[in-house]
Amino acid sequence: ETLDKLIDLKGSIRVFCRIRPLIQTNNLKVKSLVTVEQEKITVKSVGIKKEFSVDRVFDQGSTQEDVFQEVKPILRSALDGHNVCILAYGQTGTGKTYTMEGIDGKLGIVPRAIQELFSHASEDSSSTYSFSISMLEVYLGSLRDLLAPRQPLLRPMECSTACNLSVLATKSGAVEVEGLTDVAIPDLKKANQWYCRGRRARSTSWTNVNDVSSRSHWWVDNLFQPPTFTLSMCSLTRITIRRHGATEELSKLWLIDLGGSERLLKTGATGLTMDEGKAINLSLSALGDVIAALRRKRSHVPYRNSKLTQILSDSLGDGSKVLMVVHISPSEDDVGETVCSLSFAKRAR
Ligand code: ADP
Ligand code: MG
Repeated sequence: ETLDKLIDLKGSIRVFCRIRPLIQTNNLKVKSLVTVEQEKITVKSVGIKKEFSVDRVFDQGSTQEDVFQEVKPILRSALDGHNVCILAYGQTGTGKTYTMEGIDGKLGIVPRAIQELFSHASEDSSSTYSFSISMLEVYLGSLRDLLAPRQPLLRPMECSTACNLSVLATKSGAVEVEGLTDVAIPDLKKANQWYCRGRRARSTSWTNVNDVSSRSHWWVDNLFQPPTFTLSMCSLTRITIRRHGATEELSKLWLIDLGGSERLLKTGATGLTMDEGKAINLSLSALGDVIAALRRKRSHVPYRNSKLTQILSDSLGDGSKVLMVVHISPSEDDVGETVCSLSFAKRAR
């Protein structure tokens, strides 16, 4: 049994890398330092030459459809009864939300995945499926239910105190967030309505209110002052899949837009205290530690070190499938963060 588990585990963590297009401004000629040859990425700058291999690279010209085609097989695993995590990792502004949600009709992984689940369910005559959705946000180690009734639009600093759900382990070894709203989604239309509602309830909506991340060149303008709100949020969508066949199977599909991975204190982000900076980096480093322990088949996996890894503890290890999409910028201005993000990815492979 253990051997089977190890073999399964070996194939269970995939790492993709998506390179966002270079943004050129009129008065600033930005150079690309990243080259790709098959699945090998080279980052070359003065005094640095580093190479990283991943399972699949999506270069600057890749489309949402290109990415989704590679994601589809892992969705089949979720329909077949495996727990699945798809995580977007990377520096703020590198396109995590673009990949997961999409923008202006260029649909990302989450809406496409939802669509795919329903279309598979209607084609599969041997089983019937039912789906439900939950959405939550992790901020400074607190959990917030985005589909709770009468959800107030809270500023990030309010929600760290106003909402803090706890994580429980059930008798069967599954993990549950106590009191988390889970709504049945009978059809695609209802699913999209709930998904949009959850998106609107996020604290990250405040960045849109302030029109920070929606400016096309904000990322260049704010090179040394990244918007503080988007940095800190991990936003999670969970689709629970029930397959009613001869036996009933239940699996979870997690679609996760992780908080920005940049080393906050170094980039001089304003408005964040030292504790906030630490708490944000803590979720991501706890995630990195968990993935590295799974990769090295350690008997002890440190799930308990953050709320994020606690929530995902039944969806990252044994028999589950993990896809990490690491996002990088090709710009010379971001070379330090790019190397850090790719090094993080390396721990997972
Ligand atoms: P993040 O979520 O990592 O902070 P965003 O997804 O908000 O980054 O992307 C920042 C900006 O760059 C947005 O305006 C987004 O539309 C744009 N962008 C990101 N990735 C791409 C891409 N691959 N192609 C075109 N535009 C992109
Ligand atoms: Mg984002």
